[in-house]
Amino acid sequence: MKVAIIGGGAAGFFAALSARYHDPSSDIIILERSAKVLSKVKISGGGRCNVTNACFDNRRLAAHYPRGENFLKKAFEQFSAVSTVEWFEKRGVRLKTYPDNCMFPVSNDSQTIINCFVQEAVSGKITVKTNAPIRRIAICEGGFSLRLDEEELYADRVIVAIGGQPKMSGLVWLSDLGHTIIPPVPSLFTFNMPDNPIRELMGNVVENVTVRVEGTKLKGNGPLLITHWGMSGPAILQLSAWGARILSEKEYNFAILVNWLNEQTEEQVRIVLHTSVRDHAAKMMVNLNPFPVTGKLWQHLLWRSGIPEDLRWKDLQGKNLNKLANTLINDRYSVTGKTTFKEEFVTAGGVSLLEVDVRTMQSKIIPGLFFAGEVMDIDGITGGFNFQAAWTTGWIAGKSVSLNA
Ligand SMILES: Cc1cc2nc3c(=O)[nH]c(=O)nc-3n(C[C@H](O)[C@H](O)[C@H](O)COP(=O)(O)OP(=O)(O)OC[C@H]3O[C@@H](n4cnc5c(N)ncnc54)[C@H](O)[C@@H]3O)c2cc1C
Repeated sequence: MKVAIIGGGAAGFFAALSARYHDPSSDIIILERSAKVLSKVKISGGGRCNVTNACFDNRRLAAHYPRGENFLKKAFEQFSAVSTVEWFEKRGVRLKTYPDNCMFPVSNDSQTIINCFVQEAVSGKITVKTNAPIRRIAICEGGFSLRLDEEELYADRVIVAIGGQPKMSGLVWLSDLGHTIIPPVPSLFTFNMPDNPIRELMGNVVENVTVRVEGTKLKGNGPLLITHWGMSGPAILQLSAWGARILSEKEYNFAILVNWLNEQTEEQVRIVLHTSVRDHAAKMMVNLNPFPVTGKLWQHLLWRSGIPEDLRWKDLQGKNLNKLANTLINDRYSVTGKTTFKEEFVTAGGVSLLEVDVRTMQSKIIPGLFFAGEVMDIDGITGGFNFQAAWTTGWIAGKSVSLNA
């Protein structure tokens, strides 16, 4: 049996290795558009490759996917984060877990993952053809005819693993086959705040903030990083992922409300403020910061609240106190535009999951056609979740191509 895998990325390679594992006799070819395979794996995680996440409960793992949660919950029953760790360990690649649960190869080098895949592909006699962009697929005589620029290839089974496509045009040949495409929009981006003085605090990190998008139910938690163009960090990236579609509809013009003290309420903040008034009456406010924010940010928040630089704690009252309490827990910033997060970005949207059988990754529309990876309407937040989805769906697709022979 001839199996063609379109796309030599994370999902395509894993699907090929799984296909070989489950069927030693099939003829497997990976067709990669560019001159190099696994190029995203190479640059992933800042060159270290965040392979997966040490979240070993499938239900909790699935909750990290703004799109695809229910689908993946079922898929993880076949290949979970535990399976990923075991798969790599069996092939001599040990993974290390960091305090945030992200798992990287012990070597801290994405090349370790690439070497492992390439060695496995060579020993499994998998053919890899680069500079081989597939322009069209046609159904023919119990199989498929794949149109390349200058040739046509035949395959009995096809796994489509072309990754996230930023434009609808990249998916037209799949919609031509009858598949519904959920329009692609970017996910995992940072927020631009041109001209906002907060940018002068670039490099400042607040460990635990809550950020809401005004007028929506969107909420992100975690560290926030102030950058020279606006805001980034896990709290912002989470928001960008969960809100990928809503924020795209708003054309990336919206307001956020930052609670610099995570989930603290106004009442709790007022208690801290009154305690400082009582205990540090003679001290200048700027010199005594009772909150877990950096000194520079504290100074900035006092300025944003209109508090004079030389105000002493004993003089904090009335309007000033109300304004400061509000700034600390409900600080409003206008966002105009986004910047793609350098460390990891993905595309929300793609082939509708309603048309893919989760048990096999086979198309419900065209028998013999399978999907793996980000080409489907699946994406996760940062932390190794996107690769985990690629491994899981690739594994199932690779296993199923042979079972369905
Ligand atoms: C900078 C960066 C860093 C990242 N870091 C991480 C990380 O550390 N951890 C994590 O979990 N996720 C990370 N991600 C996300 C992760 O890389 C993707 O989710 C993952 O690569 C998706 O795998 P895929 O195989 O579906 O797609 P891809 O890896 O994008 O592979 C698709 C392949 O298909 C090829 N292709 C496309 N069209 C055709 C065609 N018509 N014919 C032939 N070939 C075609 C492409 O050239 C590509 O090689 C990162 C993403 C980026 C951009």
